[in-house]
Amino acid sequence: MPPARAKAMPIFKKLEKLGRSLAGSVLDGLFPRSCIYCRGPRAGGGEFLCAPCLGEITFIRRPYCDACGMPADISYEFPASGFLCGECRKNSHPFDRARSLGSYDTVLRELVHFFKYSPQPGAVVDIAALLKRYFAGAPETYAGFYVAPVPLHFRKMRERGFDQSFLLAREVASVLKLPLASGLLCRVRDTGSQAAKTRAERSRNIRGAFAVDRPEVVRGKDVLLVDDVFTTGATAGEAARALKGANAGRVNVFTLARVVL
Ligand SMILES: [Zn+2]
Ligand SMILES: [Zn+2]
Repeated sequence: MPPARAKAMPIFKKLEKLGRSLAGSVLDGLFPRSCIYCRGPRAGGGEFLCAPCLGEITFIRRPYCDACGMPADISYEFPASGFLCGECRKNSHPFDRARSLGSYDTVLRELVHFFKYSPQPGAVVDIAALLKRYFAGAPETYAGFYVAPVPLHFRKMRERGFDQSFLLAREVASVLKLPLASGLLCRVRDTGSQAAKTRAERSRNIRGAFAVDRPEVVRGKDVLLVDDVFTTGATAGEAARALKGANAGRVNVFTLARVVL
């Protein structure tokens, strides 16, 4: 072996090692090796969650409230549609129907947080797989609908670097094979955080937050509004109100998670 080559090898190896560890930490950030919920190995599971944790996410299936999608605590037979929860019997919503994939707790809550607050949106891989499974068994059909995200205020988007509702809406549109119409609504007011607010405060705070730029595009369209979490329905309701004000057709809501009381 020539002396120059013998000398060059260790440097090359060092560089290679450094490169590998850099690539490893970048990949680890994008696709962590351990499950984000239980911290156990996620071999055989998804990109972020291990198989047992993924299995813990149960879908909200019937019986549920026909209007807001709240799981109904009834064990007897009831008509397939038309059942309304106590809340929806008191107050109607500006949207026609809301449905959610699962309840906003434990594993799904962690996945939503990870998706929302981590600096990269890679959790979308596991979310897409969940959406596929959920919609494959969902009784509702959305033929003719346009999928639209509930828009984030540009200030929030700048903080986070990406718009999670848009990414979610894009996945929903792809799974349901529907057109994505992301420009139907815009957020004209930064409403701050809705967390820690009562139902009445939430709906007051969100009033007038959305606007329709081009009503001629919205008119007559059936819209499936997509957001990450349904809490009291105030945000989705206000977005639906803006769309209905511009003469949209049906406005349904789909969220990844829902607060179940
Ligand atoms: Zn796990
Ligand atoms: Zn309801």
